[in-house]
Amino acid sequence: MAPMQLTVIGCSGSFPGPDSPASCYLLEADGFRLVIDMGNGALGVLQRHAELFGFDAICVSHLHADHCIDLGSYWVARQYAPEGPRPPIPVYGPRGTAERIAGLAGEDAASIQARFDVRDLSPQTLQIGPFRVTTERMNHPVETFGFRVEHAGRTVAYSADTGQTDALVRLADGVDLLLCEASFQSDHDNPPDLHLTARQAGEHATRAGAAQLVLTHLVPWYDRDRSLAEAAQTYCGPLSAATSGLVLRPGAAR
Ligand SMILES: [Zn+2]
Repeated sequence: MAPMQLTVIGCSGSFPGPDSPASCYLLEADGFRLVIDMGNGALGVLQRHAELFGFDAICVSHLHADHCIDLGSYWVARQYAPEGPRPPIPVYGPRGTAERIAGLAGEDAASIQARFDVRDLSPQTLQIGPFRVTTERMNHPVETFGFRVEHAGRTVAYSADTGQTDALVRLADGVDLLLCEASFQSDHDNPPDLHLTARQAGEHATRAGAAQLVLTHLVPWYDRDRSLAEAAQTYCGPLSAATSGLVLRPGAAR
């Protein structure tokens, strides 16, 4: 069985940057395509890596615009496809996801549900295609889920947006790859319970025993090399920063 493949579609934090859409990741295994988050500009770049209607399920970590706003556009695509409306695709998200997409698309929730089979997330483990997906609530001002995805003995965890939390350490326990947000840098007066500094991302990865750390949700006004240097102070394993188009194969080296 081929290991899963993770493609970074968008890794720009809080708003799109010149080189990347906002948050979006494509996970593929056994011919199944799972999209996690669909922030500003993600739908365009996704089409470089998969056919427009070639996704099988979508997970949304939370309803901040930079993680979900292109779902409004994707609803339009599925609704008005020239061959006729597309069948509903599973969309897993926090409570209120259908209403949020309805607001983005200027429609009512029933119209959204005709194209998106929206299912509420809670802290749980569920099977999505070939992936075993475990969710935990993160430390962020709105309900936010981090994800642990397992397939064929390989594991990846995604922090979504979060301040410091033991829940992320649990979720990322022993993973092959932790895709961790690093929105902040240490020398600023950062608000608590919102985002991680790169240094804190490294601390969480070390505590979890993650075999590889990839920093993401990098905000365009901060220097990436500086974030990497901060994370390297607290994490001594393989470390890199996400870029749009980066393809990762968690655990492939072992
Ligand atoms: Zn957020």
